[in-house]
Amino acid sequence: MQVNLTSDTATKPTAAMLKAMFAAEVGDDVFRQDPTVNLLEATAAERFGMEAALFCPSGTMTNQLAIKCHTQALDEVLTEEKSHIYQYEGGVYSMLSSVSVNLIRGERGKISPGQIATAIKPRYDWLPISRLLVLENTCNKGGGSIYTIDEARTLVQEARSSKLTVHLDGARLFNALVETKESPAEWGGLFDTISICLSKGLGAPIGSLLLGPQELIDRARRYRKVIGGGMRQAGYLAAAGLYALDHHIDRLAEDNARAGRLAEALAPLPFVASVEKTETNICIFHLAGDLMAADFLETLAGHGIQAVPFGPQMVRFTTHLGVTDEMIDYTLNTLRNAV
Ligand SMILES: *Cc1c(COP(=O)(O)O)cnc(C)c1O
Repeated sequence: MQVNLTSDTATKPTAAMLKAMFAAEVGDDVFRQDPTVNLLEATAAERFGMEAALFCPSGTMTNQLAIKCHTQALDEVLTEEKSHIYQYEGGVYSMLSSVSVNLIRGERGKISPGQIATAIKPRYDWLPISRLLVLENTCNKGGGSIYTIDEARTLVQEARSSKLTVHLDGARLFNALVETKESPAEWGGLFDTISICLSKGLGAPIGSLLLGPQELIDRARRYRKVIGGGMRQAGYLAAAGLYALDHHIDRLAEDNARAGRLAEALAPLPFVASVEKTETNICIFHLAGDLMAADFLETLAGHGIQAVPFGPQMVRFTTHLGVTDEMIDYTLNTLRNAV
C-alpha cells in the first residue's frame, strides 16, 4: 500500500472535480473575462463577507501581495517566528515590499495579546515602522494549531489600537473552522485581508485566494500581473476551486480525525519521545533515543509510507483527501511492527 503523509498539497483532483474542470466556461482573466474565475472570486468574497477576492497561483503570492498592499518600504511586519511568511516564503517580503519582519516567539505558532504591545516599535527615525500584523490559522509549523475567533479578536483589537493592519494567512483556515464551527464571515469581519489555499486539504490542484476590500484587491491585481501572476483561461483551475468550496469543506473533519488517530497511537510507541498536541490535520512528533528522522523515514518509505522530517528527530504526518482509514490502519500496523 502507498500512503502519502508528506503534505496536504499532495491531493489530486477527484473524478467529480475533474469533470467540473472540463466543463468550465472560460475566458481571458487578465481582461476579467473569465466567468468561472469571476464566479469563484465573488463566491469566496461573499462567504467571507468581504468586498472582493483575487485568484492567484499560490498562497505565497496571496500572502506577499497582502504584505505589498499593506506596507511601504522600511515598514516592518509583525509575525510569529514559526509563520509561513517568514519560514517558507524565501524572505521575499524584503525584495517585493522592501520591509523587514519583527518576529514574536509564541506557543505552537500562536502569540498572546500582551506580546503585541511589547513588539510594536516606538516612532523614531532610526526604527522601522510597525505596520502590519500577520496571524496564521491553522499554524503549519505549530502543528496545525488553532486560533479561536475569540483569541484572534483580542489580538486584532490589540493590533488595531496601535494602528496596525491585520492579515490572516488562512491557508488551512477551514481545517480550523470545521472544529470550532465558526463561520468564514466571522473571520472576514475581523481581518483587513485573508488568504486561503484551495490546493491544500480542499483538494484543488492549484490556487489560492486573497480576500479584502475592493480598493486593496484592485491594487493587488495590478501587482499580481506585473510579477507574472496574471493567468489567462484560469477558469479551468477556478472550477476546481469552486467545486472544492462546495464539496470539500465538511470532509476536512475526517482529515482532522485521522491525524488525531495517528497522534493517539503514536504516543505510547517506544521510539516516540513525544507527540505535539494535534488539533487538525497535522501531527508532529519527536523521536526517542538516537533514532534519527532520516533513518525512521527511510524505514517507512520501505513500506510505501512517505512523510517529511521537521527537524533532526522530528517528523510531520499530514492527512488529506488522499488518505483513507485503511491507510491509517496500515500506517499504524507498520509503526507497531516494522520500526
Ligand atoms: C501552504 C501554505 C501557504 C502557501 O503555500 P504555496 O505553496 O505558496 O501555495 C501559505 N501559508 C501556509 C500556512 C501554508 O501552509
